[in-house]
Amino acid sequence: MWRSSCFDKVVNSVCSGGSEGALTGGLISLTAFSEIIRHIGSCRDAASLSGVVGQAVQKGLHSDAGVFVLREGDQVHYVEVSGRDPLWKGRRFPLSRCISGWVILNRAPVAIENVAADARIPYEIYRPTWVRSLLMVPIRTDEPVGALGAYWADTHKASAAEMEFLRNLADITACAFTNVTLYENLRSLNADLDRRVTERTERLAEVLQELDDFAQHVAHDLRAPLRAIRGLGQIALEEADAGADPAAVRERVREILRAAERMDKLVVDLLSYSRLARQELPRSKVSLDLTVDEVLLEAGILIRESKAQVDVERPLGDVVAYAPVLKQVLQNLLSNAIKFVAPGSVPRVRIYAEPRPPRRRLWVEDHGIGIPPQDQERIFRAFERLHPPEHYPGTGIGLAFVSRAVGRLGGAAGVESEPGKGSRFWIELPEA
Ligand code: ADP
Repeated sequence: MWRSSCFDKVVNSVCSGGSEGALTGGLISLTAFSEIIRHIGSCRDAASLSGVVGQAVQKGLHSDAGVFVLREGDQVHYVEVSGRDPLWKGRRFPLSRCISGWVILNRAPVAIENVAADARIPYEIYRPTWVRSLLMVPIRTDEPVGALGAYWADTHKASAAEMEFLRNLADITACAFTNVTLYENLRSLNADLDRRVTERTERLAEVLQELDDFAQHVAHDLRAPLRAIRGLGQIALEEADAGADPAAVRERVREILRAAERMDKLVVDLLSYSRLARQELPRSKVSLDLTVDEVLLEAGILIRESKAQVDVERPLGDVVAYAPVLKQVLQNLLSNAIKFVAPGSVPRVRIYAEPRPPRRRLWVEDHGIGIPPQDQERIFRAFERLHPPEHYPGTGIGLAFVSRAVGRLGGAAGVESEPGKGSRFWIELPEA
């Protein structure tokens, strides 16, 4: 609100006609008018602008109240009524039912000496008040954003100079209003930017934490086969030095090679998983039937050795995907379905599909050991394994790959499972 002592000086000077000569018919001095402009120009929000302008109107015109009204769609908002009493300050009226609305819609000023005798005035609103006369002008005449007005308690015939003063003030207010709106927009943009920077920073911190965890896991999982290689190598050396049976030494070496293979598999899985984050995945129509055929062909040895029974319910249909990555996804799901069965039992796998518009869902169902409900979500994260490698070998990357791959292909993955009964893994991709 503009209530500085400087303003009081301006007001006094306005009221006394000023010492520097009248600018507009003895109404206001040059100094006073420049002070008003300076104060209006320094407003940074609509609330202070309306306060300053309302007072300037009232004091500048020696009226009993100064009014600042803004258009809000089909309504007018009496943002400020300064002076004798607030009247309808803060209230809203339909444009068609008040004099400021008339001024805005007609883009013309109005001077009314007697509010009781003017058809444009909704007199029922004015009757209980002290208002007898008024002067009101639009803020901007091309497309008014509001109106400025003065009320008098006595009958008052507004002079040409008063009209001129109010029009000038309205012009200045129009510019200031544009500035204030820009400032307010800028402030809210800045606040929005601050909020987004904070969110991004938090997300970045999370990602860094995830990276850190990931590095810990990688180091841990790589060191396990490394330790085995070192230990077994040491034993093999000692056995050879002690003149052990060459067949026993060869068995040690084979174990060493198996540990090296595990390490290699882990590195390969990790590389393809991390490449997936940045790799381009050009999408096109891919036949699920052909992809499953390829996967089954390549898994031939695994299927024969495990005596797995794999049933495919065709046709599986087509999806939009990147074929090499989709193939890897299905390989992971199939090898898990064959691997995670109770010792000695024969794996049974069923592959089928169904429409889930706008996607297509492919199921890989097994009758294996199943997954407890509390673990069904976390197994899709890297390195989450529910069993020690001695029981079920693996790297813990397979399902993380599945989840990341279908996510990047615009789909999703999940599982339904009951421990001891089996699991149904699904992936969904856009239907072709
Ligand atoms: P990996 O198979 O290399 O251990 P995955 O990421 O493919 O790693 O799977 C993570 C874990 O989820 C597995 O270690 C296993 O505990 C569980 N899991 C995955 N598929 C199945 C399944 N078909 N049946 C039971 N458990 C499964």
